[in-house]
Amino acid sequence: MSEYFQSFIDYVAARNPNQAEFIQAVKEVSSDVIPYINEHAPELINLKLLERMVEPERTISFRVVWLDDNQQVQINRGYRVQMNSALGPYKGGLRFAPTVNLSVLKFLAFEQIFKNSLTGLPLGAGKGGADFNPKGRSDNEIMRFCQSFMTELYRHIGSDTDVPAGDIGVGQREIGYLFGQYKRLQNNFTGVLTGKGPAWGGSFMRPEATGFGLLYFVERMLYENGDSLKGKKVAISGAGNVAYYAALKAIALGAKVVTISNSNGTIYDESGFTLEKLDYVNSLNRNLEAYTARYAGEYHAGKKPWQFTCDIALPCATENELNEQDAELLLKNGCICIAEGANMPCTAEAVEAVLRSDMLYAPGKAANAGGVAVSGLEMSQNRLGQQWPADAVDNQLKKIMHDIHDTCVHYGKNKHGKINYLKGANIGGFIKVAEAMKSQGLV
Ligand code: GLU
Repeated sequence: MSEYFQSFIDYVAARNPNQAEFIQAVKEVSSDVIPYINEHAPELINLKLLERMVEPERTISFRVVWLDDNQQVQINRGYRVQMNSALGPYKGGLRFAPTVNLSVLKFLAFEQIFKNSLTGLPLGAGKGGADFNPKGRSDNEIMRFCQSFMTELYRHIGSDTDVPAGDIGVGQREIGYLFGQYKRLQNNFTGVLTGKGPAWGGSFMRPEATGFGLLYFVERMLYENGDSLKGKKVAISGAGNVAYYAALKAIALGAKVVTISNSNGTIYDESGFTLEKLDYVNSLNRNLEAYTARYAGEYHAGKKPWQFTCDIALPCATENELNEQDAELLLKNGCICIAEGANMPCTAEAVEAVLRSDMLYAPGKAANAGGVAVSGLEMSQNRLGQQWPADAVDNQLKKIMHDIHDTCVHYGKNKHGKINYLKGANIGGFIKVAEAMKSQGLV
């Protein structure tokens, strides 16, 4: 690696102590982007373009106080990282989880720069959330928390400034409570949040978008490499929104989904999940063990899906959930493709192992961009005061995913024809933002 790469990483590490996830994401992007800059755009070095990109435009941190059902005062920390507005209003989800801290949100906001750029839509990048654990909380507690969170956040966002959406722990219910509170405070009904219900300004297909988009990407990637999803065994981690719709689409495209998991364990169903089985999993409310009472699958407590033989692995749970040993095991068992439904689910070592092999690897910033893409379409519908039919949104989603795929191929193919999708996504995402930042002067 070049001198510039090493000095850049040292600079980022020194400025961001104790931010391992953020540094991991910066390293991964800059190891592709710096050689590109050195060769094709050396003027960006003096402009300190990368150094500017790793510095959030604005970071907001605030107190969230709320009353639980036992009338106890609870205090959480809320955040919004407004990372980059070169391409449009800050855009990205809110995560409610006990693991939320500034490092995690900065890594997510940084990834969002490239992901949002790849969609081809006019979207800047942001991310936010709180260290609030929604697990085991009543509906009333969730509502009070969301109202208190928005009472602080509302002054920093707006439909042309910053448009949050959901992420882990924030689904349509939470978006509803957040939106209701924003509306009370601002007295306007705008597209200030995406992921709204279709009856109140939301887009059709937004819940499906990340999972469906992931499969459209995988389908295209296999096609590019002379293969298809037909008859493929697919291992999926997670049991949330992304995993559920990824499983549905994989089945619809002729694949067999054999695992679903959560942080407690994995269900392995050799005969493959059906729609009915997936709906049953949803009804179990995290108690996946109960699956075996109704269906002939196995429940493996404390185990991840990656030990089971599969052709395609789709990590759809959370960051760093698939490590080097998992990647080696998947390779040994004949897995041909890993595509990320979650953000940065593979550790840096796992990615290195995969890139050394012949396995296809689709990074999250490309493969899971369908969610934010349909959020972008929701913003367009809100601005126009329209609601487009589901099939029209689905067609646009498919086209966007195919275009992202083709961008990755364009920037990621080497002279021997081998495609490095990570490199393609990093460079393809970077170029547009770099050009915009250059045009907008020293900001
Ligand atoms: N949280 C999702 C992501 O990681 C969606 C963000 C959005 O829709 O703004 O891309």
